[in-house]
Amino acid sequence: MTILLIEDDPAIARGLQVNLESEGYRVLWANSLKSAFEINHKEKLSLAILDLGLIDGSGFDFLRTVREQGSRLPIIILTAKTDEDSVVEGLQRGANDYMKKPFGNKELLARIKATLREPHLRENQIRWGDLLILVDQRVVRFKDTTVDIQRREFDILLALVEKPDVIINREYLIQQIGKDGEIFDRTIDSHISHLRSRLKKSGVNGIKISSVYGLGYRLEKV
Ligand code: CA
Repeated sequence: MTILLIEDDPAIARGLQVNLESEGYRVLWANSLKSAFEINHKEKLSLAILDLGLIDGSGFDFLRTVREQGSRLPIIILTAKTDEDSVVEGLQRGANDYMKKPFGNKELLARIKATLREPHLRENQIRWGDLLILVDQRVVRFKDTTVDIQRREFDILLALVEKPDVIINREYLIQQIGKDGEIFDRTIDSHISHLRSRLKKSGVNGIKISSVYGLGYRLEKV
């Protein structure tokens, strides 16, 4: 299996290359965007490891271009940009996974193996209209905005978005979020009302959480 390593720092690249080769991978090193495009064009690759800050541009350009070309090449972003937005942006633009620098070699190898087993976009992304939920990261995005959301509200939104247009009763929501047994009908109602105002505050439009009297709640498009 051939891994394209796109990284402009020779020390990091060399270390990674030695490590990956000792695991039996063939490693091709690109120290710039230009060389990454050339190698991607010529070689049959199994996976790419992508640094974001490169001498001749952003790793996002590589990601965007190959996805626009319809390539499903598994891509793991390797980034020093630890802020949540760049990670989310990478996943939204079609990266399969990401690692933050500094990283452990063992973890990176585990992620490479997992990504190779599951080369398509991670299933833990749920998209419904303009709403994007990154389940593992517990992040909710609407268009380009991250919705500020509390733990229980996230659980409720997740339960609703997994079955849009379906009436979800309170008992189900209590089960989904109330593992510690402190959740009651009225608590659900108050979480829902907070969730509604958070969505509204973040400019989420075109969808709403309707109350269906005596039955529960339904997430729907409006
Ligand atoms: Ca770099």
